[in-house]
Amino acid sequence: NYQAEIVAVGTELLLGQIANTNAQWLSEKLATYGINMYNHTVVGDNLERVEQAFQLAQSRSNIIIVTGGLGPTADDLTREGFQQMTGLPLVEDKESMEKIEGFFQNRGRTMTPNNRKQARVFEGSTVLNNKAGMAPGMYVHYQSCHWFFLPGVPREMKHISQEELFPFLEKVTGKQRIIQSVVLKFIGIGESTLEHTLSDLIEKQTNPTIAPLAQDQAVVIRLTARGETKQEAEAMLEQTKKLILARVGEHYFGENEESIEDIVVQQLQDLGYSISAAESITGGMFSQRLVSVTGASNVFAGSFITYQSRIKEEVLEVPSEIIHSQGVVSRACSDAMASNVTRKIQTNLGISFTGIAGPDEQEGKPVGTVYISIADGDEVVVSKQFNFTGNRNHIRDRACLKGFELIYQ
Ligand code: ATP
Ligand code: MG
Repeated sequence: NYQAEIVAVGTELLLGQIANTNAQWLSEKLATYGINMYNHTVVGDNLERVEQAFQLAQSRSNIIIVTGGLGPTADDLTREGFQQMTGLPLVEDKESMEKIEGFFQNRGRTMTPNNRKQARVFEGSTVLNNKAGMAPGMYVHYQSCHWFFLPGVPREMKHISQEELFPFLEKVTGKQRIIQSVVLKFIGIGESTLEHTLSDLIEKQTNPTIAPLAQDQAVVIRLTARGETKQEAEAMLEQTKKLILARVGEHYFGENEESIEDIVVQQLQDLGYSISAAESITGGMFSQRLVSVTGASNVFAGSFITYQSRIKEEVLEVPSEIIHSQGVVSRACSDAMASNVTRKIQTNLGISFTGIAGPDEQEGKPVGTVYISIADGDEVVVSKQFNFTGNRNHIRDRACLKGFELIYQ
C-alpha cells in the first residue's frame, strides 16, 4: 500500500512569491495511478529544516517526491539535507559531469566549481537523466521508501517525471496503463446541486472516477477511466457519461475545451438564427465572448453598448417615460433594449443586459440587480431579473454567463 508525499524545497514558496504548482501537477498525475497522496510539505532553503522535513516524510510515507534545491548555488540544500539524514555518500556522476562541462564548452564559458555540485548523486542511486536542463534527478531506495529527487524548475520536473517517475509508478502499482479522461460541462445548475444529484455515483464509483471541479465559466465534472486498451477506457467513460446525463442531461452543454459560447454559436448557426445585443452592465463582454468563437460572424450581427441612460434613450430609443418612471435598471427598460436592438440591427434574436454592478446602489435598487431580456422578432420571449452577489466584475461575469445560458435553453 503506497502513501505518497511531496516535499517542495524553496523559500520563495514559503514567502508566497511563487505558487507550489509542482505539487499540484504531481498530485493530479499520481491520482491517476491510484496512489494516495497524504501530505504536501513545503520547506525553506534551510539545512536543518530540510532534514527535518525529510525525516518526517520518511516516517510516514513510502513514495516521497522532492522538488527543488538541486541546483548549483549555496541555497540549494536538498542533497545536503538527505545526506545528513541518511549518511549516504555523494559521488560525481560521470555522464552528468560531462554534460555540464559540454554545456559550458559549447557556449565558450568557463565553468565555476559550484557547477560540479549538480553532478553529485547519492551512491547507489539511479540517475534520472534531465533532458530539459542541467541537474539530473535521482531515485534512491532508502529503508523501504522510494525517494525521487526532481529539479524545481517546472519544465524540468515535468520532463523527468514523464520519462522516469511515471513509468516507475506504473511498475510498482501494477495499474492498468491506459488512462483516458473527459470533462463534462454543465450550465444552469449549481455545483452543490450537481454533486448532490450524483453523490452515490461519485462515492461508489472508482473506474471511471467522477470528480466535480470548480471552474469559473461552468460547472464541470472530470471522468477518468483506466483500462487495458484505449478503447476499453473510452467505452467505460461513455457508459458513465450516459449514467450521468440520464440524471442531469438537461444542463449538459459540452465536453473538454468546449465553452458555452462555442455551443451557442453552433446552435444558432444550426437554427439559421442571427443575434444582436444591447449591453449596459456587461459593457461589450457578451459580444466579446461571442466574437472569440471562430465563425461567430455567421450568427452575430453587432451590438450597442449603451452605458449611460442618455445613450439608451438617444441611440437605442428606449422611451424616456420608462427611463424616468422605472429607471434604466428595470424590466421595462431591459425589454425595450432587447426589442429595439433586434429591430434596429434586424436580427432574429436580440439580448439585453442592464443592471447594477456596484459598488454603490442605484435607483434605490441593490447592487447585483440585473435584468436580461431576449427578443425573438417583435416578441420579448425572456425577461428575467437576477440578484447576483460578489464584486463588480464578478457580477458582470455572472450576468454575461447567464445571458449565454438563457440563449442556450
Ligand atoms: P536550479 O538548478 O534552477 O537552481 P533547483 O532544482 O535548485 O533548480 P530551485 O532552485 O529550488 O530548483 O527552483 C528553481 C526555480 O523553479 C524557482 O525559482 C521557481 O521558479 C521554480 N520552482 C521551484 N520549486 C517550485 C514549485 N514547487 N512549484 C513551482 N515552481 C517551482
Ligand atoms: Mg536552485
